[in-house]
Amino acid sequence: MQNINEIEELIKLISKLPGLGPKSAKRIVLKLMNNRDELIKPMAKALADVYKNISRCKICGILKPISTECNYDDCKIVEKRFSKICVVENISDQWSIESSNIYQGYFHILGGTLSSVGQRKEDLLINSLVERVKKDKIEEVILATSATVEGQTTAYYIQDSLKNIDIKIIDENNKFLKLNSVGEIVCKTPLRFKYYYNNKNLTKNSFIGEYFKTGDIGRIDQKKNLYFISRKQDVIISSGKNIYPIDIEKEILNLSYIKETAVIGLKDKFFGEIVFAVCVTSSKNKNIEAKIKEDLQKSISRFQMPLGFSFIEKLPKNNLGKVQKYILREKYNKKNFDFTKNLRKILN
Ligand SMILES: [Zn+2]
Repeated sequence: MQNINEIEELIKLISKLPGLGPKSAKRIVLKLMNNRDELIKPMAKALADVYKNISRCKICGILKPISTECNYDDCKIVEKRFSKICVVENISDQWSIESSNIYQGYFHILGGTLSSVGQRKEDLLINSLVERVKKDKIEEVILATSATVEGQTTAYYIQDSLKNIDIKIIDENNKFLKLNSVGEIVCKTPLRFKYYYNNKNLTKNSFIGEYFKTGDIGRIDQKKNLYFISRKQDVIISSGKNIYPIDIEKEILNLSYIKETAVIGLKDKFFGEIVFAVCVTSSKNKNIEAKIKEDLQKSISRFQMPLGFSFIEKLPKNNLGKVQKYILREKYNKKNFDFTKNLRKILN
């Protein structure tokens, strides 16, 4: 194909949409090009109209015509007042709750979650939620964030903001850490459950004092923003160093020929654990492992570089679309790879 800048730009933009990679973006652009008058023209107009006329309310996050006041702003719904507010991540969540007709109350759309890529609290409409709740004497806040780790971390954070619930970071010895240190997230909340049924040990290990250990690794910065880094069980400990899979996964996913990846720790006699990457690729390159390593060299440290790779058709996921890393760990640990054999030879 001749290099046509306009087309390449369009492909780049479309591949930024959720669920689309460069390949499907190319397919979409081809389809558009073959239907210039039926698709491109009305679509360009629809996009321009939406851009010109519709915006997100800066307080409650709903979509509204730019020219009108938000119905939810200051809760000025003329005929009816509610005492409930339902907090969701995205507008699509609001739509599905509305269509079920089971909820009567206000909505508050955060615009995402506090996520592993470091989405900041300021980018979500959490402060304005706290304001709304205070000002409008809301009696009930329903946190309808997703059941993913990010969704729950966000829910914890909102609870903290609303109820002065305390969140802290601890080290392996259950000592509270200073701001910006990375460790396990613990939280104190009146809403927490009291104990595990018939399991005193688990209960004992899940709390320090009144703080519940979430099993999530994160940090809190000077401005009290909470950053989620990893599930505790997913942290790879290699030669006594903590390695966070997400840092490596982010870089691998930046490679255009990788569709999905899960980075896990495999048992190793020498290092304790080693970094292992399971990937789904579109590439037919026989030497793909070398290619990935070469491409990653610029973006990750040496100790983060996976010692082994495996390429599979798709990653095992649960109903929520989360990768089930324990299945991968079990599968590949059984293979008893010895990735550090050569290294030991050199060192001996
Ligand atoms: Zn609003």
